[in-house]
Amino acid sequence: MTVPKTMAAAVLVGPETIEVREVKTPAPGPEDVLIRVESCAVCSSDVSLMKNPWPGQPPYGSFIPGHEYSGEVAAVGKTVDEVSIGDRVAVEVHFGCTRCDNCRVGHYTACLNWGDEKKGHRANGMTTNGGFAQYVVNHISTVHRIPDRVHYDEASLVTNLGCVLYGFETFGGYIIGDRVAVIGEGPLGLISVQVAKLLGAETVYLFGIDEKKLQVGKTLGADRIVDVRQNDTAEYIMRETNGRGVEIAIEASGSKAGLRAAVTIPRWMGKILLLGIPEGLADVDFHNLARGNKSLYTVRGEGWTNCRRGVSLLRQKRVDLSALVTHTFPLSRIDDAFRTHIEKLDGAIKVVVKPHEKTGV
Ligand SMILES: [Zn+2]
Ligand SMILES: [Zn+2]
Repeated sequence: MTVPKTMAAAVLVGPETIEVREVKTPAPGPEDVLIRVESCAVCSSDVSLMKNPWPGQPPYGSFIPGHEYSGEVAAVGKTVDEVSIGDRVAVEVHFGCTRCDNCRVGHYTACLNWGDEKKGHRANGMTTNGGFAQYVVNHISTVHRIPDRVHYDEASLVTNLGCVLYGFETFGGYIIGDRVAVIGEGPLGLISVQVAKLLGAETVYLFGIDEKKLQVGKTLGADRIVDVRQNDTAEYIMRETNGRGVEIAIEASGSKAGLRAAVTIPRWMGKILLLGIPEGLADVDFHNLARGNKSLYTVRGEGWTNCRRGVSLLRQKRVDLSALVTHTFPLSRIDDAFRTHIEKLDGAIKVVVKPHEKTGV
């Protein structure tokens, strides 16, 4: 495979302003892999960091966002023998720094040297260049080979799956026979439904506001889908559980109402998992939380190498991420891709950008 000296890339040039430019193709270091990006999904984190730069984000005019991508190995560094040129790969976002206390024990998504590139920290698409480009450099530890039959669009969502699996691992994950309430019918909620069923949950409730996406949730395994515009989440769960509550609540909506409900609906000693990163302050009933001896878990990113587990589930055909990919756009139409994601146009769940394609749907 010949790698061109320059490539097309979406560069963040100012707040909420992205420009597709011709830039120098990056070169892999000794432990790196150069990936020819085939698919890069739009995420709400992209929207957030494009509006207000995150800590450690490179300056306007030099930063290429995009952290959920897949592609083909185009070149490898001189120490890399884990993958070869031509291999199909998915990635994880966080490399970490390898030297802080958290990274040393494997908590690399919560690196204490976040954004400090001179200490080696990397989180592609957040503090180092990402995948809204024709090529990107990844450290070999953030690269996972994928089987031929897994489509690149589906593989670009491995970070989402890794994040959900990390969440389940964090709270204990033993949910055979449990009732699980998932709040939010976005990508993380829809993946949570599948993982909960896969792990043996008795009943999975999915709460949301979009009828079409709730229906997708049903086809992916939700036992009950509930429109929260017609039902109060807490009242519904209490009615269903004789006033006791569910064993597990998973908050994946980021909404204030969702956060409030997530604390209320677990039974005493129940667990709450927060997925994604909600913005701003929310009124949460800590009295209810403490009186019920409930536990609250948070996760950031796709930690503890859960992307490897995610790729395994795709290989085994135990989860379906392709149902979440509703739109694709070529890189030249990245603005349309973002608008479709932000305004949730035409039932958008995940919108994928294709850096090497001229047209998209
Ligand atoms: Zn993301
Ligand atoms: Zn670190």
